[in-house]
Amino acid sequence: MTRAIRIEKTGGPEVLSFGEVTLKAPGDGEMRVRNTAIGVNFIDVYHRTGLYKIPLPSGLGLEAAGVVEAVGANVSRFKAGDRVAYASGPLGAYSEAHNIVATRAVKIPDGVEDAVAAALLLKGLTAHYLLRRTHRVSAGETILFHAAAGGVGQIAVQWARHLGATVIGTVGNDNKVELVKSLGCHHVIVSSRENIASRVREITGGKGVPVAYDSVGRDTFMATLDSLSPLGLFVSFGNASGPVPAFEPGLLSAKGSLFFTRPTLANYVSTPQELDTAAGELFDLVARGVIRKAEPKRFPLSQAADAHRALESRQTTGSLVLIPG
Ligand code: NDP
Repeated sequence: MTRAIRIEKTGGPEVLSFGEVTLKAPGDGEMRVRNTAIGVNFIDVYHRTGLYKIPLPSGLGLEAAGVVEAVGANVSRFKAGDRVAYASGPLGAYSEAHNIVATRAVKIPDGVEDAVAAALLLKGLTAHYLLRRTHRVSAGETILFHAAAGGVGQIAVQWARHLGATVIGTVGNDNKVELVKSLGCHHVIVSSRENIASRVREITGGKGVPVAYDSVGRDTFMATLDSLSPLGLFVSFGNASGPVPAFEPGLLSAKGSLFFTRPTLANYVSTPQELDTAAGELFDLVARGVIRKAEPKRFPLSQAADAHRALESRQTTGSLVLIPG
């Protein structure tokens, strides 16, 4: 037995319940990880609310760090006692212990605490594919990144700055401005009181940006389209304010022959090689101090509902983690 957060039905944070669940011995290719810190991600909210459909009842959470407790058959990548982190499920990471596919985990480098690894891995792998693969950000480019003070946002801002880009970040309120500037944002737009597209045009001398990363979704869709230069790339990678409404392809031509992509992390780390390369780049930048390890905000695992309330309130900055009691 182990203790875990489960949901029986979709809804608000109150549908999260904490209790005992049965945990089988790890199967072929699997290993059991004793979680020491669990990453909270906005996708957990989408699973909880039903925006992303999952079979119910279900565990929740895709990401954690911890220690390998037991390995199943045909696992050569890790052994009992190894410190590992994982970021692509299966669902149920909000638990004291969890069985995962061994090829989906990475070793945590010495010098990186478990809580930091759990705060970094999923969000850092996301920043990696967005900036290095969906569009390869290059020196001298100006990019737009929404929710710059958030978990993914803070890592992406530091990474893009390191790549030599001029970074325009958006934040929801004035309290977040200094923080994102300190991380490397050259220009900050406060979305609650400024017109995003007008400010982007002003900053770019009327040209617009060649790439815009939008995880806010519904509320920023038109502003993001209007911020792009001709042939620009719209990277729609989340829906914190709700899903992007259906639109006609003609809208992309009307706005300047734009490209639109809706990527998801799983497709970019679908092999152990892809995962190791991306995690290697991430942890290297952390070791070199390029990406600063901001202390994640910690909640007891049993209080996961409070972590969800905080994340949805738009008052948090950086990452949130759950700590098993
Ligand atoms: P964040 O810490 O970034 O939290 C979400 C942020 O979105 C808030 O802090 C808030 O910042 C902003 N936001 C804008 N409108 C709303 C709203 N109506 N309700 C709530 N928040 C809002 O979360 P994560 O770092 O976990 O994730 C960031 C985004 O990236 C999410 O949309 C997530 O789904 C997406 N993502 C996508 C992945 C993919 O592969 N496609 C992988 C990982 C994450 P502010 O108030 O400053 O605007």
